[in-house]
Amino acid sequence: MKPLFFRLYIILVCILFAACSKSVTTAGPVDPPVTPLPAPPPVSYDYKSDYAYNLNVVYFVPNDVVEPAEYHRRLSEILLQAQSFFGDEMQRNGYGNKSFGLLKDEIKKRVQLIVIKGKQGRSAYPYEGGANAVMNEINSFRAANASMFSSDHYLVILPATQYDANGEPGGVPFYGLGKFCFALDYAEQDIKYLGTGGVLGTRAVKWIGGMIHELGHGLNLPHNCQKVSEGASLGMALMWAGNSTWGVSKTFLTAADCAVLNVNQVFSKEKKAFYGEKNASIKRIHASYDDVKQSIIVKGIFASNETVTDILYYNDPNVNNEGIGVNRDYNAVAWTSKPIGTDSFYVEMPVAELQYKTNEVYELKVKLALSNGLIRETIYPYSFVNGIPRLEFSTRDELSKEGWSIASFSSEETASENGAVTNLIDGDLSSYWHSRWSTNAAVYPHEIVIKTGENIVAAGFSIAQRPGLARAVKDLELLISLDGISYQSAGVSRLANSSGLQYFSFAAPQTVKYIKLIARSSWDGEKFASLGEFGLF
Ligand code: ZN
Repeated sequence: MKPLFFRLYIILVCILFAACSKSVTTAGPVDPPVTPLPAPPPVSYDYKSDYAYNLNVVYFVPNDVVEPAEYHRRLSEILLQAQSFFGDEMQRNGYGNKSFGLLKDEIKKRVQLIVIKGKQGRSAYPYEGGANAVMNEINSFRAANASMFSSDHYLVILPATQYDANGEPGGVPFYGLGKFCFALDYAEQDIKYLGTGGVLGTRAVKWIGGMIHELGHGLNLPHNCQKVSEGASLGMALMWAGNSTWGVSKTFLTAADCAVLNVNQVFSKEKKAFYGEKNASIKRIHASYDDVKQSIIVKGIFASNETVTDILYYNDPNVNNEGIGVNRDYNAVAWTSKPIGTDSFYVEMPVAELQYKTNEVYELKVKLALSNGLIRETIYPYSFVNGIPRLEFSTRDELSKEGWSIASFSSEETASENGAVTNLIDGDLSSYWHSRWSTNAAVYPHEIVIKTGENIVAAGFSIAQRPGLARAVKDLELLISLDGISYQSAGVSRLANSSGLQYFSFAAPQTVKYIKLIARSSWDGEKFASLGEFGLF
């Protein structure tokens, strides 16, 4: 027995020695045994804000994603920099040093992040369509943790869930959606790289600048561009391409941006009701071009049951027929004015400040900024013709439509939507006529004959495209008659592909009883046609 034990002992010693010598030769001296240190106590922060409402900054982490290192420090520094930028710009524009509220620890330089672990993995929150899933989870989280939230505005940051071959982050929602906006995070997203160039510097500008631009959207800002003269003095407007100059060269907020932010909930230091429904509208508007001042002059009267703090005038060109609406408004150039008295407005807009003024079609979006944060918009179409603005939207006194009727029409759609032809003369711009499409779709030209009750004298006609501009009519011929049998043409008008009433004057006042509208072509090149309202003035 003993020899066997002895032999085993020898073998064991040899193995241990061999193992030991191997470890000594390859790894150097052995560290002394380590006793694990106790976990450091969690850092506590004293978050405070002197604003009545604060931006909800949500860090939303899909359940199969690891948070990039130091996200709290990095994102806090980005947000503190943005908060002071907004404060400086508000000051420069005459609103005092106010910015968006943030819960922050001033001493430790940290911002409160509401960290929410997603219920699902990264595939549930893609760029395309992923925002809804995130918002649903945030809403349920808020319902259970109401005290962590303090406003209607959200900046939602997700760690990137995909990286391309060059290490470029992506894969998650990155856009504004009402009072929510989405941005992303990755380990090297750090303000220390802004302006340093190279891969990390370029990437930092793109994603941090992008985050702040989206934050602008989440704070109610639409796109708009610097005036021609502002390019040299102020640089790039944040809500145009300022995301690409952030931290590198001069970037600024326009006067219109600041007027919108001035009434924003999270810029308020007092608790009050925000964004409730109010009645505010423009009652009359007059636009003209002053040759001497080389300026578009717009004036008018508004009515509102809430204080109007500023009137904003966005001139949005339809360059290269890019269209209108969301993401086609980058190149809008905006002016602001204060109300005159309780109900009037006036602005002079030098056309030298507009970049596009040869033969462009424009929308003038006049917006009333209300003290409860609502922004009320009315759109008026105009155009430049050979460098001169053609402004024909001034309010006209329309003739009554009492006794008017539809004498005949080529088609209407009433089976699949309310596109009845009578909607064209019901006094309501939101209802519309639509050519028949659900069966046996009608094709151009589309024709409608309106009969007035008796002979009336008109200086011209008004027309509105269907709201939203689907199936907008391009060329419209008008013919007039006293007997409904023999007609004379009053010419073909090119309608603007824009919302709101458009006015067309006759060469001379005309006595009419029958008016035949012949829609000859469409803006989208399709066979369908739709119009909102027709009138005479
Ligand atoms: Zn944008």
